[in-house]
Amino acid sequence: MVSRPSSNLPPGIPVENSNQRQLLELIGRIGMRLGTRTFLVGGPVRDMMLGHASPDLDVAVESSSRRFGRTIAHELGGRFLYHRRFMTGTVTLSDSSHVDITQTRTEEYPRPAVLPSVKPATIDEDLVRRDFTINAMALELTPRAFGRIIDPHSGRADLSGHLVRVLHDRSFVDDPTRVFRCIRFAVRLGFEIEPRTLELMRQAIVDRYPALLTPERILYELRLICAEPLVLQMVEALVREKVFEAAFLPDGDGQPGHLLPDLARLVQGRATPDLLFIYLLSTLPVSERFPIRREERDAADAVNRFGPTRARLARARRRSTTYRLLRPIPEPALRILALLESGAAGARIADYLGNLCSVKTEITGRDLRALGLEPGPRYRQTLDRLLCARLDGRTRTREDELALCRRLLRRVKS
Ligand code: ATP
Repeated sequence: MVSRPSSNLPPGIPVENSNQRQLLELIGRIGMRLGTRTFLVGGPVRDMMLGHASPDLDVAVESSSRRFGRTIAHELGGRFLYHRRFMTGTVTLSDSSHVDITQTRTEEYPRPAVLPSVKPATIDEDLVRRDFTINAMALELTPRAFGRIIDPHSGRADLSGHLVRVLHDRSFVDDPTRVFRCIRFAVRLGFEIEPRTLELMRQAIVDRYPALLTPERILYELRLICAEPLVLQMVEALVREKVFEAAFLPDGDGQPGHLLPDLARLVQGRATPDLLFIYLLSTLPVSERFPIRREERDAADAVNRFGPTRARLARARRRSTTYRLLRPIPEPALRILALLESGAAGARIADYLGNLCSVKTEITGRDLRALGLEPGPRYRQTLDRLLCARLDGRTRTREDELALCRRLLRRVKS
């Protein structure tokens, strides 16, 4: 066991969290055995300094990242997945928490908004490539220097001053996803965007750098935002700063006016991150290039095309009509619409989701056959009519259904 003077630890590092401290010390010792310095980097350092819990750890090593990850997984009883191309890996521990492992690196941006080329480098060079000063700190884990904070960009001062600040003037041009990240961190932490950073961000938006990103990278950022408790305030800021226009929309086309009120209703109704993301998609010009799942595309589309159904639903007098109107709509879209629609349409969607969608007939195809109906399209039609009868309360028991079925068959024969 390597002794570590606790006075090395800066204020805010939760030494009282002894499990995490032991884990960090072990990680540092494993690094030393393999001949590399090790660091906790980025988000977890920021969060620990703020006194926030950070279940997942981001660890950077100056060499041997693959061997290091494998050894960590072996000694802690986890699984290790390595991505050679990115020199990164993830150890998943038995309690499902993660230790993300990266090789310290420099990044060079050949053109704005494209992924950078990456080369191994020292920790200081690694911190220069990061997005904001508050995310550009490291906590050394190497035993003889355990607990030393490396803070070349004054991230600690910005944490105390509640500021999100980029490291250099080309930051948003090199990587416009940082526009989304800047807003996400500022809102999440309740920080200001430092004035020069705000100016640079706004210039990147005016110059439409976000439009150079692939849809995949933009949607990744939007998914992260949808998973945040303050998603509404974040989207408000994106709208206010015209980020959606800069990322997707032709000049002059704004976000639909109902976006924010709708989102507020969804958040208030505790819509899940997946539903919030589908709703956002429904307000964007979704193209074939969007890397989204078929169900997400269909659900966003259904939310958009609900208008004509709304009017028919409001007029529906029978529950079977409600059923027939709503059955073709994907369930995630209905969950969104249930929170957005008011009046009769909203009540009927809630009735569908809460009751009607699980109603079944008691008799089955086998019963129809026993009654002498040959298999074919009439099967489906007959079962549909039986289902409508049950939905409208005209049948309640299996006997009611059999009687109705006989009547229908007699009518067909005559
Ligand atoms: P969260 O709490 O949301 O997980 P995080 O800071 O851990 O925040 P990640 O997206 O996991 O964020 O990234 C880890 C670290 O990698 C960041 O803290 C930052 O130092 C660096 N980083 C991530 N994305 C970028 C980027 N686009 N440009 C520069 N540095 C980045």
